[in-house]
Amino acid sequence: MADRRPRKVGILTSGGDAPGMNAAIRAITRTALKEGLSVIGFYRGYEGVVNKHYTELERKSVANIVQRGGTILRSARCAEFMTPAGRDKAADNLRELGVDVLFVIGGDGSLKGALALREHWDGQVIGLPGTIDNDLDGTDYTIGYFTALDTAVHAIDKVRDTADAFERIFLVEVMGRMAGFIALGVGIGCGAEEVLVPERDFELRSLINRIQDSRATGKLSCIIVVAEGVVHRGVKSLDERITIHDSSMLAKEIQRETGLDSRAVILGHIQRGGNPAALDRMLASMLGTYAVEAALKGETDVMAGIHAQKRCLVPLAETWAERKSLDDFMLHVQHTLA
Ligand code: ADP
Repeated sequence: MADRRPRKVGILTSGGDAPGMNAAIRAITRTALKEGLSVIGFYRGYEGVVNKHYTELERKSVANIVQRGGTILRSARCAEFMTPAGRDKAADNLRELGVDVLFVIGGDGSLKGALALREHWDGQVIGLPGTIDNDLDGTDYTIGYFTALDTAVHAIDKVRDTADAFERIFLVEVMGRMAGFIALGVGIGCGAEEVLVPERDFELRSLINRIQDSRATGKLSCIIVVAEGVVHRGVKSLDERITIHDSSMLAKEIQRETGLDSRAVILGHIQRGGNPAALDRMLASMLGTYAVEAALKGETDVMAGIHAQKRCLVPLAETWAERKSLDDFMLHVQHTLA
């Protein structure tokens, strides 16, 4: 806990961008200004702190951004900040600029960076969960997750039309290197027949058996939603001779075995873009105001989150210490309804 009222705050967005980051910047800025604090925004994540690249933020600087995707402060991955010397430089700059609180909006890497910075700087750091992956522990949802779900669901609705028309199998790869939250949410939202997530083992043979059984009952199209982590980790081919590392090859393997026309669609970066969904705007706005009020109470080294409909502050280290678990009931829902 800090022992004096902050006067100046800094904001940065870091790592993978997520829709709703702008709404968070706006909420932090406007709440802080209302409390009589001055606000600066650092450009390109930690790079802006290391290189003193920043701008003063006024009420008007954040006008008309609540609905915009991306981040007006830009985002980046900063290798220099990964080193103690880089963080020392950042800490010197924060002292020189008179920043008392740094708000970091980003994913687990960015929040690790925020805590690492505290070894060099005695200001306050407060994290906001900004990632489409929803993989930060301690918060039920992260800023950007709802928009990514909507974007992917709308894209797969279109894929479904052509899957039905041509009686095809479509393997749709969505983001999620380590976590299946997007794949599972999207799979339920678009009524996918199968969902493959990194958290659960998966066997190609049984997947193919299920596809063939479903064909036998007259179902002609099939959507398989696969989190990228599943294919990046590798899937053993049916004869076990090779490991398949991309969705197109996996679709070919399914086609070879079933004789059914199978295609892969990789949704890629469209999942990061677009205007934030209403829920992301609400979450970002709520967490932004809450984070500033927490800072004024002297909180530090925490992430502002939401759990069971309640706002909460989670020690930063707890947000990545354990892998956030997928809800078994939602997996059950997907199996039941497919
Ligand atoms: P995300 O926040 O989306 O998970 P990254 O993992 O790429 O994205 O992290 C974003 C940035 O946060 C990195 O480029 C680096 O500047 C900083 N960062 C990540 N991990 C650490 C760490 N362990 N120590 C210090 N800084 C880190």
